[in-house]
Amino acid sequence: MNSEEFRSFAKAAVDYIADYLENIRNKEVLSSVEPGYLHQHLPQEPPQEGEPWQSLLQDVDRIIVPGLTHWHSPHFHAYYPTANSHPGIVGELLLSGLATISTDWHPDNVCVALEQKVLDWLAKLLHLPSHFLNTSPGPGGGLIQNAASDSTLIALLISKTKKTSETAPDAKLVAYTSEQSNSSVEKAGLLASTTIRLLPTDEHGALRGTTLLRAIREDIASGLTPCSVVATLGTTGTCAFDDLEEIGPICKDFGVWLHVDAAYAGAAFCCPEYLPLMKGVEFADSFCFNPHKWMLVNSDCSAMWFKDVTHAEKVFDRESSGTHFWQIPDVRRFRALKLWFVLRVYGVEGIRKHIRKQVDLAKYFEGLVRRDCRFEVCRVSLGLVCFRVKGDDRRTQDLIDRVTQRKKIFVMPYYFREKLVIRFVICSRFTEETDVLVAWEEIKSQVEHNLDG
Ligand code: PLP
Repeated sequence: MNSEEFRSFAKAAVDYIADYLENIRNKEVLSSVEPGYLHQHLPQEPPQEGEPWQSLLQDVDRIIVPGLTHWHSPHFHAYYPTANSHPGIVGELLLSGLATISTDWHPDNVCVALEQKVLDWLAKLLHLPSHFLNTSPGPGGGLIQNAASDSTLIALLISKTKKTSETAPDAKLVAYTSEQSNSSVEKAGLLASTTIRLLPTDEHGALRGTTLLRAIREDIASGLTPCSVVATLGTTGTCAFDDLEEIGPICKDFGVWLHVDAAYAGAAFCCPEYLPLMKGVEFADSFCFNPHKWMLVNSDCSAMWFKDVTHAEKVFDRESSGTHFWQIPDVRRFRALKLWFVLRVYGVEGIRKHIRKQVDLAKYFEGLVRRDCRFEVCRVSLGLVCFRVKGDDRRTQDLIDRVTQRKKIFVMPYYFREKLVIRFVICSRFTEETDVLVAWEEIKSQVEHNLDG
């Protein structure tokens, strides 16, 4: 492919993306293809001769898109948002085109300098403590990781190395998190060969200080060495907030590393009204949130900060490999570019507007549910509403099954305090009040069926 063909191909692809996003409201959110569909459409062998680029785009339209779940449909209300924005897409395109790879953490390297700059902007936007800034006089700093899961693993590895250097080399280490934390925490425990204790939460799904303290004392009494706590701000299931004000001082007293996973909810801290939800964050040794979830930066872009990077340097700096990053891969993509684009095109006020609009839409949905006596609202937190059909769980399950089969909206089930609930999240930046109303009509129409039957 020569440069002229590349221009035509790439321009056509951008037009395709713009059309796709403009028309996404008209697509069924879930695909209707049968299992094995793709294999029927693709040859067994790779092409012998190169094909014209036009046929590739045609096949995306003909074969790929019909099999997709449309994560940016205004009717997608499952999981949490996955970010997508025009500046985010262009940033991703440019970083792919420049295809520069950073292997040097030297601040004169422009990729590194931009990353340090935008991570400082981001920390300020989120009102994080100033000790996290790359430009702070202290040893703090931040960088972009692939995912929140990587950040948790990295935090566990650092805390393990730190604790091992402070205690007997054969100490049996233990880390703590709540039973409501993301499954990536247990996975990170496996990868870091660290025992993870899942602690019970209060009635709101939050980990409390007394629970942590009891567990730490029990473990010390039985010869274990507590090394880290992974606290969550905005749990995956119900967007609950662990109590950092209680947990933080305990971690400090016992010399335990506190990592905060705010993968989804972190974005909300750009709005001053949500700052009470992260009270106690100054105790965190490391903090992570995903701009690629709720802050409009296309995946992947997960921000991580350290209060003191020297602990990370002990684990990850490998002079012999020329790598000076607190990360698992050797080299880095220039992901700061797309974060920079999003921050500049939206500005602080644009990002706040996005977050507030989505929270307002969730509140609007909550109001609709509350006005219908057949339902109960179980929890509302930021852009998430958890609700259920009153009575036996089978009613709620039946409703979820019907709605999912009809493919007009996409919601997820979750068990919270032994009850089945429906998680309804405002995910797409295209979602408007009319879409929320469409979702509510769809739910009502199917529950009526369910209760009559
Ligand atoms: N932590 C929390 C609280 C999450 O909600 C999620 C995903 O939804 C994750 C971690 C995993 O994020 P990632 O895919 O970036 O590893």
